[in-house]
Amino acid sequence: MDPDCIFCKIVRNDLPSFKVYESDTVLAFLDIRPVNAGHTLVVPKAHSHNIFDIAQKDWLAVAEAVRTIAIAIEKGVGADGVNIAMNNREHAGQVVFHPHVHIIPRFKDDGLKLMPQREYKETEAATTLEKIRAAL
Ligand code: AMP
Ligand code: ZN
Repeated sequence: MDPDCIFCKIVRNDLPSFKVYESDTVLAFLDIRPVNAGHTLVVPKAHSHNIFDIAQKDWLAVAEAVRTIAIAIEKGVGADGVNIAMNNREHAGQVVFHPHVHIIPRFKDDGLKLMPQREYKETEAATTLEKIRAAL
């Protein structure tokens, strides 16, 4: 528990939220500024910061809750699909530094786009692969 963390405050009911799901280790609640209605955040109850320091057992619990809740969101709001996303660290767009997975319901004509993609240059794929595999 971090006294300055807004998601810890939500977990402790010190701040209100629209709770979607709760277990011993996980809480899911509606994002206050949704991409689409039903946009939900799934968080571990224990405080850490992001994917880089979350405890394995908390991550496994969050991941399984995401699967269950994604199915319910799609069915519940009649979506045509869902995006599942997690921002980790400031330069990846993380604003709240308590781990959270976004589940965003998507609709056929919602007009939203995915992140832009590009082609690899000549040897870039191979050298990039080498760096990642060396770090595993
Ligand atoms: P991120 O950029 O991945 O850190 O996303 C943080 C998310 O938390 C944003 O989508 C916010 O709209 C959402 N958020 C911030 N404060 C609250 C709150 N009190 N209740 C629900 N969602 C919140
Ligand atoms: Zn926290």
